[in-house]
Amino acid sequence: MENLIGKRFEKLVVVEQVKSTASGQRQWLCRCDCGAITYKATDTLNNDEYSSCQKCAGKYAAAKAREGAGFFEGTQISKIKDMSPTAANTSGVQGVYFDKRQNKWRARLRFKGKIMSFGSFSRFEDAVFARKMAEKEYFGTFLEENDLNR
Ligand SMILES: [Zn+2]
Repeated sequence: MENLIGKRFEKLVVVEQVKSTASGQRQWLCRCDCGAITYKATDTLNNDEYSSCQKCAGKYAAAKAREGAGFFEGTQISKIKDMSPTAANTSGVQGVYFDKRQNKWRARLRFKGKIMSFGSFSRFEDAVFARKMAEKEYFGTFLEENDLNR
């Protein structure tokens, strides 16, 4: 019978053995790094990819999901690498749209959840140029600094 008291499993430290389940599995009272108490069977502790309380497990799963979708610091890497226009886009260039009220082309860029504006232009080409420069400045630097240019 393995004594797990004092052992660490990722975020959990085993505090004491509590009871056995009907199937004879030993249960352990564990303390999570966040302070929460949780009960785990020996098998669960040994086999879980990530042992923690339920709350931390939820956070972990969410982080994994974001990682899977290519998120880094709230920015979806695949999105800024692939600049093909979305369905909602009418100009054919991502981040460039026609402002009917001003009768001008506008360039903008969404980065880290914020939308930034890069001016309005009479000529479509100028708006595209402004957008491209902004992409280089914001996305390029971001990818480089975080070594995501792969
Ligand atoms: Zn926790």
